[in-house]
Amino acid sequence: MAAKLISGTDIAKTIREELKDRVRELSASGTTPGLATVLVGEDPASRLYVGMKGKAAAEVGIHSRQVTLDADTPEAELLALIDELNADPAIHGILVQLPLPDQIDDRKVLVAIDPAKDVDGFHPINVGALFSGDHTALAPCTPKGVLEMLFRTGNEPEGKRCVIVGRSNIVGRPMASLLIRHHGTVTVAHSRTRDLAGVCREADILVAAVGRPGTITADMVKPGAVVIDVGTTRVEAPDRPRGFRVVGDVDFDAVSEVASWITPVPGGVGPMTIAMLLTNTVEAAARSSEQGAAQGAERAGA
Ligand code: NAP
Repeated sequence: MAAKLISGTDIAKTIREELKDRVRELSASGTTPGLATVLVGEDPASRLYVGMKGKAAAEVGIHSRQVTLDADTPEAELLALIDELNADPAIHGILVQLPLPDQIDDRKVLVAIDPAKDVDGFHPINVGALFSGDHTALAPCTPKGVLEMLFRTGNEPEGKRCVIVGRSNIVGRPMASLLIRHHGTVTVAHSRTRDLAGVCREADILVAAVGRPGTITADMVKPGAVVIDVGTTRVEAPDRPRGFRVVGDVDFDAVSEVASWITPVPGGVGPMTIAMLLTNTVEAAARSSEQGAAQGAERAGA
């Protein structure tokens, strides 16, 4: 069987077009969605990601503010900036690029972000809301992007056996919550799972989020399964201009012969993550606009 390709690049492009319309509508009603991205230090990869996010936001009409702080910025200064962004009515989404330098406690920073502006979905209030089935919580972008890929290719999780390999807070755990919400029957596997191959073979939908190339081989995939590869690992490639290439967790060529649908790396989950960041920002702005309208109506009625 030759699996059909789930192109994150194409789906993300469609989503960005849809968002342009929503941003235009919101702007016309007085709320232009705003995203602030904060980078501490000069890590080239982080700088690249933040730049891509800011550019993608601007392309759909989101007002984008990028703040870069020195690598030795004290924690208090970053927290003060977050307070300022929390209070800024032009900003609806705040993203602090991780990892942060050693003098800054990641958790303190994530907790300082207003949950209503937490477009990464990492604030404990949003994590708890998602886990307890609250549909209005801002969900982390990568698993939200995976879910969107499933829906947009007609691979709804309802009633299906879903296996996620990886239990991180960024991907595996929120992925499980989202799939449960959409009525999948979910197993989360990890490095201590016994008979990983046997567990994976039960999956109608298999999501690999490990970060180890070659983790998922063809013998681990049920014929006809949908395989989503979240993994991104840089491997040396002297023939490439940048000296490396990015590979996923799945043995793509062999698994393509068994699966019904499969995501490539690159061009799969990666572009969806950014598209969901934009989606979360627009959702946060829409909620803020609705709240503003409701408060206005209340005042008028008082
Ligand atoms: P992580 O925090 O390192 O978690 C990796 C998970 O894989 C852990 O739960 C670990 O189990 C499990 N694992 C490790 N070795 C395993 C093995 N041999 N068998 C089964 N499970 C194993 O990584 P992450 O942040 O979730 O990211 C995972 C991958 O996705 C990385 O390649 C990352 O770069 C990529 N990623 C991509 C995007 C995107 O936008 N495309 C976004 C986020 C992440 P234990 O918990 O037992 O240690």
